[in-house]
Amino acid sequence: MNWTQKLLQWYSENKRAFLWRETQEPYKVWLSEIILQQTRTAQGLPYFKRFIETFPTLEAIALASEDQVLKLWQGLGYYSRARNLHFTAQYIHTHLKGQFPKTFHDLLALKGVGDYTASAIASICYGLPEPVVDGNVYRFLSRYFGISTPINTPIAHRTFKAKAKQLMGQAAPGIFNQAMMEFGALQCIPQNPKCTDCPFILDCNAYNQDKIVFFPVKRQQQKVRTRFFNYLVISDPDQNYLMEKRTQKGIWQNLYQFPLIETNGPIKSSEKLKVRSEYPSELAKIPTALWNRTPITHKLTHQILEVNFWLIQAKTKARKAYSKDAIKALAVPVVVQNFIKEFF
Ligand code: SF4
Repeated sequence: MNWTQKLLQWYSENKRAFLWRETQEPYKVWLSEIILQQTRTAQGLPYFKRFIETFPTLEAIALASEDQVLKLWQGLGYYSRARNLHFTAQYIHTHLKGQFPKTFHDLLALKGVGDYTASAIASICYGLPEPVVDGNVYRFLSRYFGISTPINTPIAHRTFKAKAKQLMGQAAPGIFNQAMMEFGALQCIPQNPKCTDCPFILDCNAYNQDKIVFFPVKRQQQKVRTRFFNYLVISDPDQNYLMEKRTQKGIWQNLYQFPLIETNGPIKSSEKLKVRSEYPSELAKIPTALWNRTPITHKLTHQILEVNFWLIQAKTKARKAYSKDAIKALAVPVVVQNFIKEFF
């Protein structure tokens, strides 16, 4: 049995049954791949179900509003994925007459679709020989072949993709790709890989040289930045609250939040908050209370947020104020969602 046959046999005996494995429909495969990027399968599954129930077709998601899509995505993080999902659905619906592109390069031209997703759709839905390279594939191949190219460098992608294509040979591309990813997810796992019952143990470079912990190789990561967020929870006499939409690029674009003031460091007194001109002018003089005793720490990939919520009761009606129920229907970052759950 050659290398690829061993892998495919392992896959047929060990693969997990997932909803998205029951379909070759491009819309559903695309949706699952976007949800599962940077997300654990167990966390992504309920989101996939909810999306399919709410938007069973590409047309349904294309005709929804971005706010509806973001609301359903809430809690999954990396919100640009949801915005791109919606944009691309609308693009295909309007400009491509609802027809998903059928070649790797046309798929790659879609917003939010990178090499990984284009390869997955091309191979699973259309049987095209485009290898998928994700974290699982990097780990498995780097260990087995002892490839020391840092996986977070541009050259790594070309190196690993070429290797995977060579291994794919004449195998069915969709099944081969899923087998590679599944092997990394279940057998050649990050910590304590299951080497003793691995079909590749005899020739595995990392195992035989006792170097498993050194693979995959990564170049040192970018530094983590700490930011200080102060949310102003401003209620007016009708118990409505000011909310704003984050329109600027960066984290949480197009999600809603309480008015935010970012400071250079931690603050303990609201006097240090420089109120922006669009907030009620009397705000600077209104006493504020800090809701949380200590800053709430919220970790993102390259940022740590130290978050405060300041409670403010304005005496005049505020512009753009939302009722509690209206706020609950908005798509908001998880840290704001947690506050709302406790405070409302
Ligand atoms: S022997 Fe261990 S490290 Fe090598 S491929 Fe198998 S599970 Fe991965």
